[in-house]
Amino acid sequence: MRRISFNALQNLIPRMIAKLPKGKPAPAFHVVAAAFSKKGNLLGIRMNNWRNWSFTATRKGTGLHAEAALIKEFGRRIDVIYVLRVGNKNDILPVHPCESCQNMAKKVGVQIIPVHLELGAD
Ligand SMILES: [Zn+2]
Repeated sequence: MRRISFNALQNLIPRMIAKLPKGKPAPAFHVVAAAFSKKGNLLGIRMNNWRNWSFTATRKGTGLHAEAALIKEFGRRIDVIYVLRVGNKNDILPVHPCESCQNMAKKVGVQIIPVHLELGAD
């Protein structure tokens, strides 16, 4: 498992935040995730479905979490997924991938890494 460097992560965060919708009445936070290949290439950045930004929504029909969207799109090409929760003021919040995404990731050998932990937050 290859992790990106701390500097690369610092560069990634603004790129992830830049993907978030602007000028809309925003929910309290967004979740955005970035997938990297085993060679360390960025495969894609996806966010939680707009209608389904809920932190723990896992019920069927409630949309896709950012991590799940990446796994569905890139599957086993992914090595690691960095997941970031961003507040309305672009503040970085703790995030805990849900059981559904964790199980999906485990099946295809993907590791999900919460960004706030990499930054040394609790
Ligand atoms: Zn999830």
